[in-house]
Amino acid sequence: MTNATDPDKPAEGAGESLDFIRTIVTDDVKAGKNAGRVQTRFPPEPNGYLHIGHAKSICLNFGIAKQFGGKCNLRFDDTNPTKEDVEYVDSIKEDIRWLGFDWDDREFYASDYFEQLYEWAEHLIKTGKAYVDSLEADKMREYRGTLTEPGKPSPDRDRPPQESLDLFRRMRAGEFPDGALVLRAKVDLASPNFNMRDPILYRIRRAHHHRTGDKWLIYPMYDWAHGQSDAIEGITHSICTLEFENHRPLYDWFLDNIPAPCHPQQIEFARLNLTYTMMSKRKLLRLVQDGYVSSWDDPRMPTLSGLRRRGYTAAAIREFADRIGVAKRDSIVDVALLEHCVRDDLNASAPRVMAVLRPLKVVLENYPEGQVEHFELPAHPDNPEMNMRKIPFSRVLYIEHDDFMEDPPKKFFRLAPGREVRLRGGYFIKCNSVVKDPVTGEILELRCSYDPATRGGVAPDGRKVKVTIHWVSADHAIEAEVRLYDRLFSDPDPGADREGVDWTSLINPNSLEVLKGCKLEHTAAGAEPESRWQFERIGYFCADRRDSKPGALVFNRTVSLKEDNWRKG
Ligand code: ATP
Ligand code: MG
Repeated sequence: MTNATDPDKPAEGAGESLDFIRTIVTDDVKAGKNAGRVQTRFPPEPNGYLHIGHAKSICLNFGIAKQFGGKCNLRFDDTNPTKEDVEYVDSIKEDIRWLGFDWDDREFYASDYFEQLYEWAEHLIKTGKAYVDSLEADKMREYRGTLTEPGKPSPDRDRPPQESLDLFRRMRAGEFPDGALVLRAKVDLASPNFNMRDPILYRIRRAHHHRTGDKWLIYPMYDWAHGQSDAIEGITHSICTLEFENHRPLYDWFLDNIPAPCHPQQIEFARLNLTYTMMSKRKLLRLVQDGYVSSWDDPRMPTLSGLRRRGYTAAAIREFADRIGVAKRDSIVDVALLEHCVRDDLNASAPRVMAVLRPLKVVLENYPEGQVEHFELPAHPDNPEMNMRKIPFSRVLYIEHDDFMEDPPKKFFRLAPGREVRLRGGYFIKCNSVVKDPVTGEILELRCSYDPATRGGVAPDGRKVKVTIHWVSADHAIEAEVRLYDRLFSDPDPGADREGVDWTSLINPNSLEVLKGCKLEHTAAGAEPESRWQFERIGYFCADRRDSKPGALVFNRTVSLKEDNWRKG
């Protein structure tokens, strides 16, 4: 459902069916909750690149804001300085923009709120709802109890507020070493929900922060920062993934116990899981660091920058997000659906060219030396405004090595000795003989003849051929490198934890094959980086946005033409 005139814009009505979250928002707006205002946010932690799972959340948050005339903020949840980096901040912004969404001037950082968060922490202390605890980490874990046993109070739990306040201020001032003390909320040690058993709000950590530098020695925990940041920004619907469902009571408890400007509603949905795809940021980082892939934007990565480099369009990813919808139950989506959306989009927009990936030389013995004629083929079958291609034809051609077999099995209908096929847009040719390397037996070229009466691909005597193959004229072809990407994992569920199985053993050893010296129709000579093409009969390809240059073209295979062709070269 992409926009036919601009594949990078969503079609009218995209994403606007009423899923359970949109139903909640609709009801809230109708009831006049938040004065009818809708404000969402996308809250990435800048500790990795965005992936296709994040795209689901981006499309949902920005999509809902747009649909209800509201706004969506971009908020970096940057509370963990040791894992975060500006490289990630920059890539996240670039990827969201590429996906087609805009946060205007609403680029926020949890770290911008550190002072306010600190004040609210003091408020909790003063009202007897938080205390400074000196219990060691393993003791604290032990004191938290088990599923069947309630937690045990720390000896510090009843520390007078004034004493906690003094210690907390001295934690901030740097009087204690890292890890010596923490600030904990005083909630409910008997709660069946572990998140409520006096969670930690602050720890001491001498770490340089990419935005606040060395100003802070204490850092808020995610749970303490998140909801309060939502409230500061006036978020109405705080949409997150299911693993936060049992954090919701805490989210609400915090907001109920501080003078918060508003109380956003947290709503959870199922995260996206995809077959053959790994989505854990920690594992993606390892793929990069250990050299399994070349970079975060390696075309095999499920990152938005990787998918982009592979040739996926933003419109196709939005369409995918739209089709999978949102639900409350975890599931795993077939990656073939994503590939289908990409194929659909590229089919509508990509200009066609002939490209011979593994060239086999064909000499037409009865075609005059030095003669060149031109055939006209449309650049796109259903897009007349995309011009015609003028394709030169001459005595020496290249065809795909796979399109010939010397000793063909029954079901092989392409070229073979004594057999005739149609050249796309051109003549019928017949194979007369095969020239081989006398030593290795390798096939060097085919000697063929063409039938001049079949120009345009029809024989006047009505004889038929079974197959039409693609080709290029040797003298007119351009050369390119083609990178055939396949799925990065050979296992359908590489993210599942399995005992005794190291997930790196599930990596597909054949996820990349590099072909040099491929022969392409000259119309692709000016291929701009990131331009997308259909190589006829083969698939969709994209000029690599990093490595492809005029005169040294590099194409990435985006996706095969058909699903069942996926594993063919
Ligand atoms: P981390 O373990 O580092 O927190 P994360 O995948 O949750 O990893 P965040 O940067 O916190 O990464 O994610 C930003 C937002 O994207 C969050 O709201 C998160 O719920 C959402 N998100 C992350 N992964 C998915 C996914 N697979 N499907 C849908 N939403 C996701
Ligand atoms: Mg997260």
